[in-house]
Amino acid sequence: MTVNLLDFDLEGLTGFCEGMGEKRFRAVQLFRWIHQKGVADFDAMSDLAKSLREKLRGAAEVTALAVLSQQISSDGTIKWLFDVGGGDAVEAVFIPEDDRGTLCISSQAGCAVGCRFCSTGHQGFSRNLRTGEIIAQLWFAERFLRHHLHSDERVISNVVMMGMGEPLQNYGELLPALRTMLDDHAYGLSRRRVTVSTSGIVPKMDLLSQDCPVALAVSLHAPTDALRDKLVPLNKKYPLIELMAACERYLEFAPRDFITFEYCMLDGVNDQPEHARQLIELVQAYGGARTWCKFNLIPFNPFAQSGLKRSSTEQTLVFARVLSDAGIVTTIRKTRGDDIDAACGQLAGDVMDRTRVGERIARQRTIVLHPLATHQPTVQET
Ligand code: SAH
Ligand code: SF4
Repeated sequence: MTVNLLDFDLEGLTGFCEGMGEKRFRAVQLFRWIHQKGVADFDAMSDLAKSLREKLRGAAEVTALAVLSQQISSDGTIKWLFDVGGGDAVEAVFIPEDDRGTLCISSQAGCAVGCRFCSTGHQGFSRNLRTGEIIAQLWFAERFLRHHLHSDERVISNVVMMGMGEPLQNYGELLPALRTMLDDHAYGLSRRRVTVSTSGIVPKMDLLSQDCPVALAVSLHAPTDALRDKLVPLNKKYPLIELMAACERYLEFAPRDFITFEYCMLDGVNDQPEHARQLIELVQAYGGARTWCKFNLIPFNPFAQSGLKRSSTEQTLVFARVLSDAGIVTTIRKTRGDDIDAACGQLAGDVMDRTRVGERIARQRTIVLHPLATHQPTVQET
């Protein structure tokens, strides 16, 4: 079987090259061709020894994912649906902003956590993506965007693991992908600009803090165990007291001095001012006296089987105000790229189901409420 070179971080590729009797610097050259220049054809790797190119041919390849659909919004947001075989598809979304380009990518086909408000959760778990399939989303998007925007410069400056799946339940495959994102011989992203979003797999958060401490976002969604048990079933295994302690431990190694809590606003479920006050109590019990977290309020993206509704804008603003008045920086994601959502509904059956992850990501812009500010929220490109 041919080896997919996208499955390797630099260490892995070095091992592979050494196994073929090649030195480490050859692996570095190869790694740069693949990830920095986006080249898949060994013959085009002009400064690579001919003997190595011959060895590679037949033994290895750079395996891209097949694109099932690509939608470009008028605001520049681009959504790709990739075929990962066996009837599974995963999604990546590029969100351009003035000072950055963010790519949101998937870590699994489906998800086993089964959050009530998440269509991926309702779909169930299909399988883990391989390292090569995770990194292929970035490899493809960066290559496409440079061509599309006629750019020689890097286009993607930030990566968020907020697509389909729970990244920390695919830790073994995630780690080499993260290392490749950070590697100066590959994408060279700073640890502050790569974010892992998790529903709270406590032991894996600790591992990540040691192995590759990138920025962390934790999907909180509720201030109490009673409510979180219902929304994020994993809470029964890792209740809030353990999750908060794990966040506190992570902070010591985190590239930023805060952790982001994601909070999906569900009408009449978790969106009352009382919930906001409980959240303040919860976070103030940790992190010492300092402000150590930010809240990102996400408007719920409804889907038929959920039986849930999106909180009103007024409710969301009141909720945000309670948090920000307590000194907690709170952002509200606002939708964007509506035109490609419409097109999304035209995708066929099975595929349509799997596009909803991207819908909620693709339509985002952020409103930032500054702590204690009295003025109206400002829209900020973050
Ligand atoms: N599994 C990880 C990362 C993928 S989900 C996690 O749960 O953090 C990325 C974010 O989208 C999470 O914060 C998740 O709670 C949120 N989300 C899921 N379904 C949503 C929906 N229907 N509407 C809005 N946000 C949703
Ligand atoms: Fe999985 Fe995240 Fe969806 Fe929960 S919100 S089901 S953890 S993808």
